[in-house]
Amino acid sequence: MKIAKIEQFFPRRRMRLVKITTDNGLVGWGETTLEGKPMSTIAAVNELAEYLIGKDPLRIEHHWQHIYRSAFFRGGNVLMSALSGIDQALWDISGKYYQVPTYKLLGGAVRDRICVYAHWGIGSRDEKGLEQAKIRLEWLQKSGYTAFKSGPSGKWRAHEPPAVVDDFVACANLMREWVGDEIELGFDFHGKMTPALAIEVCHQLQPMRPMFVEEPVPQENVDALKQVSDHVIVPVATGERLLSRWEFRKVFETQAAAYIQPDVSHAGGITEVKKIANMAEIYYVHIMPHCAIGPIAFSACLQVDAVVPNFLLQEQIDTGLGNDLFETSWKVENGYIELPTGDGLGFEVDEKMVRQDNRITQDKMNLLGYGLVPSDEELGGEFYHLDGSVADW
Ligand SMILES: [Mg+2]
Repeated sequence: MKIAKIEQFFPRRRMRLVKITTDNGLVGWGETTLEGKPMSTIAAVNELAEYLIGKDPLRIEHHWQHIYRSAFFRGGNVLMSALSGIDQALWDISGKYYQVPTYKLLGGAVRDRICVYAHWGIGSRDEKGLEQAKIRLEWLQKSGYTAFKSGPSGKWRAHEPPAVVDDFVACANLMREWVGDEIELGFDFHGKMTPALAIEVCHQLQPMRPMFVEEPVPQENVDALKQVSDHVIVPVATGERLLSRWEFRKVFETQAAAYIQPDVSHAGGITEVKKIANMAEIYYVHIMPHCAIGPIAFSACLQVDAVVPNFLLQEQIDTGLGNDLFETSWKVENGYIELPTGDGLGFEVDEKMVRQDNRITQDKMNLLGYGLVPSDEELGGEFYHLDGSVADW
């Protein structure tokens, strides 16, 4: 069996898919979406396709090693996202070739269902904000969710006056009041605080007992994250922007986080996220894989979650369940998704929907004046403080 064809699709904004077809007609799907970099992984996959065509798709580890290590330069979010999507597609083919769910090739399931959370929060306490929050909470609870995540909105500077901190904390307290004590609530600071401010806010949040605070500070400096962890009781999570075991190493060795959030479409695919999780296990660190993109990445997450003993909770956003793109979407019941039973990654793609091309084209970017459109969702937008300096997203 050889890899015969590699195609890419752009069915939604923030959704880049790779399809690998073998010479005997097996098909594998992966997701290479890299948020805010809509064109980059497309070029990377095209380059890697030259190596992959004609190769045996079942030699997944070998191809991972070649793509990661060959030609000297390693890592970076463009190469790692391209590699991640290809890795997912090869695991999909592998499962279909052996006619088992991929997790059976990864050691077999250690659980029967996967606990998931949805994005929900109270962003504003004005009448409209509360009404919107109520409607979404009711819909999500009817859909079966028992855990939710939100975060402080707006652009936070090195320090904010009490009113800003108090407003965020009041929203968090109200969330707890609405959902009660049986529901888990997490908060994503999006890496936009300094260590000192993050510690202050965590102390204010602590009485409402959040499950975790995510990326309290940016991802580059593990010592700063450790400083936060050492000063707060709230469990600290990080890792959606860390790539490969090598970037997670110091987080583990310093015990800087209680939970890690590797992204199966950025950190190196199914192959690498399982290794990161196994590495985390010896530090008693649990994984909560990041997944804020599409349903193929989410399906790849489920395969890893199935086999990792130290799995805790899976992120997903509404489009992650596969509505419109999958013949049968994932269903949440009582907070869980049942383990997939289909071969490979366990879904059937609706190719008619996938072939709809919704990418931002080069023509459109030229027309808009690349970089001049502040709110373009796919490019990530532009965020500035009142003084004109760059703010974190
Ligand atoms: Mg996050």
